Amino acid sequence: MAGNQTFTMIKPIAVKNNFIGPILKMINEAGFRIKAMKYTRLTKQQAEAFYAVHAGKYFFEGLTEFMSSGPIVAAILEKDNAVADFRKLIGATDPAKAEEGTIRKLYAESMSHNAVHGSDSDENAIIESDFFFSKMERFEV
Ligand code: ATP
Ligand code: MG
Repeated sequence: MAGNQTFTMIKPIAVKNNFIGPILKMINEAGFRIKAMKYTRLTKQQAEAFYAVHAGKYFFEGLTEFMSSGPIVAAILEKDNAVADFRKLIGATDPAKAEEGTIRKLYAESMSHNAVHGSDSDENAIIESDFFFSKMERFEV
């Protein structure tokens, strides 16, 4: 149902730095339930497709290189007001501007290496979830 789901990725830098565990702990403690999850790696082409909305911007090449540089954790998260509440939990795109206690403040290295992705609208949450997960890969708990 629209409004109670968002999509996230733990980005390659956070996987590399062994932050999968701490980030998932924060996600669970903030009240999100995991509806679907996988450990995978995007090809450059898949990263370009996922971030197509940013095609042509100066950071697009770096962003898609980075997002395909190593494995990620992709997940669908469920909670009331999921999109907005998750964006609050992760903090600003630039970790230097992220609030204390947010995932990006704690675990991001920089604007371009910023630890996690979070959908920016209910509509994009659905599009992004469908990019990674079939119906059979989603579970009620
Ligand atoms: P994400 O979509 O990854 O959750 P976001 O929604 O906070 O991040 P977007 O504006 O969608 O931010 O940008 C996508 C990603 O592109 C950011 O996570 C960041 O790594 C990179 N990015 C965005 N703006 C810039 C910028 N000005 N300089 C460098 N990298 C940028
Ligand atoms: Mg975004």
